[in-house]
Amino acid sequence: MRYFFILILCVGLFSCNTATQKPSLVFATNPVIAHRGAWKAKELPKNSIASLKEAIRLNCTGSEFDVRMTADEVLVVAHDAAYNDLTIETSTYNELSKFKLSNGEKLPTLKEYLLVGMTNNTATGLVCEIKPSKFKDHNALIAGKVVQLVKELKAEAYVSYYISFSYEIIKHIKAIEPKAKVLYLDGSKKPEALKKDSITGLDYLIYKLKIHPDWITEAKDLNLVLNAWTANKSEDIDWLLANDFDYITTDEPELVLEKFKNFPVAKEYELVWSDEFNYTGNPNPLKWNYEVGFKRNQEQQYYTDSLKNSRVEKGILILESYKEKVANSAFKSTTDPDWRKNQKYGSYTSASLHTNGLAQWTYGRIDIRAKLPKGVGLWPAFWMLGENQPEVGWPECGEIDIMEHVGFNADSIFGTIHTKAYNHMIGTQRGKTIEIEKPYETFHIYSIIWTPESIDFLLDDEVYNHIENDHKTTAEWPFDQNFYIKINTAIGGMLGGRKGIDDTIFPQQLLIDYVRVYQKKKEL
Ligand code: MG
Repeated sequence: MRYFFILILCVGLFSCNTATQKPSLVFATNPVIAHRGAWKAKELPKNSIASLKEAIRLNCTGSEFDVRMTADEVLVVAHDAAYNDLTIETSTYNELSKFKLSNGEKLPTLKEYLLVGMTNNTATGLVCEIKPSKFKDHNALIAGKVVQLVKELKAEAYVSYYISFSYEIIKHIKAIEPKAKVLYLDGSKKPEALKKDSITGLDYLIYKLKIHPDWITEAKDLNLVLNAWTANKSEDIDWLLANDFDYITTDEPELVLEKFKNFPVAKEYELVWSDEFNYTGNPNPLKWNYEVGFKRNQEQQYYTDSLKNSRVEKGILILESYKEKVANSAFKSTTDPDWRKNQKYGSYTSASLHTNGLAQWTYGRIDIRAKLPKGVGLWPAFWMLGENQPEVGWPECGEIDIMEHVGFNADSIFGTIHTKAYNHMIGTQRGKTIEIEKPYETFHIYSIIWTPESIDFLLDDEVYNHIENDHKTTAEWPFDQNFYIKINTAIGGMLGGRKGIDDTIFPQQLLIDYVRVYQKKKEL
């Protein structure tokens, strides 16, 4: 939300005649742009004066509306090309205004609309969409007239953005009014192309950005404004909040405002590390290391660093497990006492990624949004280990299992800590199980909130396990030190293999949408 904090605009007239001085305009520090005003909850007509007033009342940072021009060159606020079966561009304003909106308002002119937007409004920017004309040579004319009217009304500070599906229109606005902020709607241009043309940013259909997640990173790197339309579904809104969009254009401003308020970054936390997987290919080597080979718990999978077992595609990290014969590079002899060295081949491949040596944290909130693999014998986990493991060993280093799942118990997960005093080898680990509906069919958010006093385990933002620091020794609480994250799918082994391995299930995918680490904002 990089832009909100610098958009402090004073529109006082600086005259001695202070009786008429307007209050200063500071755009609200939320990302919510009400699409055609805030109309839905109160069943108001879209693009009505009433829906604009409602967006202002809700304190949205923006209220969007659509502009067209009548045959007699009156600018009106309307979305569709036709109004009550009259084509706006070929009808006069008098003909059109005989028909009222459903709430009794007359068809608003742009002038009336802007004047309302400049009244009793201290926080809501006007987001002005100019609809392309069906007459090719009218686009520049309409754009010019809109900009001229905004100037005449001294509404420049209120109009936060001009947006259009017509590249000609936004380029023309930028040419005649270089200070204007313009966003392109069409979704066909890469961020760098917009930057080259001095376009302020992009306002694309969510789906276009989901298939080009790299454009999000690119836009941020180029300091372009990021907006998306039209986010009405909960998962889309979460996705845009998670990706830190500057704006979210929505028919559900109340819902987005509520979600934003409860989002970690809006509370006491700040994002300190994340992988949104907005790229393609190998997991980012600056963020992830691999485990390779046989590892622990008599698990049957042979971990590899191949693209086949772990890769990023379409904004998602995929950890894929196979039943396949693979040579064990650590093989010594079939009589070696170490099970990791006495098998010439493995029968399964899978992946285990971790941040050890790259990133580690003491305290914070960690969110992992994921869809789990399905099948008896699988044992996917998101977990953390204390970075002092090489010196003190396990379980002295401490372990936090953010999420563990075993395929033979398909509709539950565990959240657990292991320490010297509390661990599964002696049956004293402190964990809880929570029922979860089909975690292999839908994405869920698995989280911990870890402080000096406690660790909470959350499923979809609901705490299901709360563990207090009882302030004894590091045998009970080794959690005042750096930990790193591990993500893996094990196959078989002491826990996952308790009911055998179903060889018919392969291949299986663990899908990770993002991993995000927040820490409390430093006190100033
Ligand atoms: Mg629009």
